[in-house]
Order: sequence, then structure tokens, then C-alpha cells
Amino acid sequence: MFEERRRALVEKLVREGYARSEHVINALLRVPRELFVPEELVELAYEDTPLPIGFGQTISAPHMVALMTELAELKPGHKVLEIGAGSGYHAAVMAEVVAPSSAPREEWGHVYTVERIKGLVELARRNLRRAGYADRVTVVEGDGTLGYSEAAPFDRIIVTASAPHLPPPLAEQLKPRGRIIIPIGDKYLQHLYLIVKSEEGKLKYSKITPCLFVPLIGRYGWRE
Ligand code: SAH
Repeated sequence: MFEERRRALVEKLVREGYARSEHVINALLRVPRELFVPEELVELAYEDTPLPIGFGQTISAPHMVALMTELAELKPGHKVLEIGAGSGYHAAVMAEVVAPSSAPREEWGHVYTVERIKGLVELARRNLRRAGYADRVTVVEGDGTLGYSEAAPFDRIIVTASAPHLPPPLAEQLKPRGRIIIPIGDKYLQHLYLIVKSEEGKLKYSKITPCLFVPLIGRYGWRE
């Protein structure tokens, strides 16, 4: 039943232009979103809408996950940093691209995802374990505006909470030719940006679309 609904949603995201590449389409078809939403909302798992996951936070709408993952141009083998693990769903989708279930483990990349709320660190770990992504995604508890220097540098960085500006540690922890996808703006309206780092380390910003995310709270984000 969920599989049919998942297929219908992915077909809609393709029609609407959010999901385009084979990698992303396959990942969206593979990851069971029903395992990442609260049990009482499971009937809404394949609606294209954000849903509450507790602690005042949300799992992003599927079209936003598709759009951000396409913009990131992830490749198998990439090392990815996500800020804002939340439910763990977006991390699982990205893990399915950089470490496809169908590829040999030696070729797998890895996703590190940082979360500041302890209860959500535990939720993301539990969801990722149930969905079979525990060995492709590492959930780290902490302030993601500081990045995650232990595993830097990263090929790609995805921020799933809205920032007042790009946190400097994220720029530093990105490889040359790397990409950052981040919503930047004020607390109630932001624009999604694609930031590309040149070979020489210069950052080029492209404004993609208006969007609305929960705030990024931390040292280089908003105050609590
Ligand atoms: N990617 C998530 C959506 C998460 S919503 C998913 O697929 O479900 C954004 C998350 O960012 C929230 O869980 C929030 O607690 C977290 N967050 C906000 N500021 C943060 C920070 N400085 N470091 C790490 N996580 C942060």
C-alpha cells in the first residue's frame, strides 16, 4: 500500500520537475518515508507536505527534499554533511544516492548529519536503523553551525534549517568544487541558495527559490 503511494508521489515530483535524475528518483522510490513520520500521521506520509516530528520541528516536504538533493548533484562515493537531522529522512535519501543499496560497500560514500535536539538525535538514529541506513549515516549530536571538523572536508553540505547567513565553518569544511545548499533569510521567509566553491576556494551564490524552514539555532545561526 505504502509502496503504491510512494510511487505515485515520486511520479508527481517528476511531473512537477522537482525530481529529475535517475539517482534521486531511485532514492525517493527506495526510502520508506512512512518509517520517518510519527505513527499517528502515517496516513499522510506520501502527501507532499511537511509534518510535525515533535520538539517544534518538522520533516521537510518531499518536493523540498527532491529539489535540494538534485541541486546538490550528489554522486556515489561522496561524503556529505547535513545540518538538521530531524527525522533522518533527508539523510536516508542522500545516503541512498551516495551509498546505493545496489552498490558494493567498498564504493559507498557516507552521510554525517548533525542535530542539536537530543530527542531528535535519538529519533533519527532509531528511524535510520529501522529503515536500514544505520551504517551509511552517522547522526552527531551538536551545533551544526560549527560543521563537523572530525570528518571534514565534505563534498557536499546540506542545511535543512534557515540561517541568517552562511556559517563560516561550513565554507571552510567544504572541498574545492564542493556545493552547499542552504536556506538563508529572516525567520519567516528565506531563499534557498546554491553555493559553489571554486578550485581556488571562491564562493559563488545562486538564489534558487523562496522557501520556509525552521530556524537554524546556534553559534553562527539564530539565538535560541
Ligand atoms: N532534514 C530533516 C528536517 C529537519 S528540520 C528531516 O529530513 O526530517 C530542521 C532540524 O534542524 C530540526 O530538527 C532542528 O532541531 C535542527 N537544527 C536547528 N539548528 C541546528 C543546529 N545549529 N545544529 C544542528 N541541528 C539544528
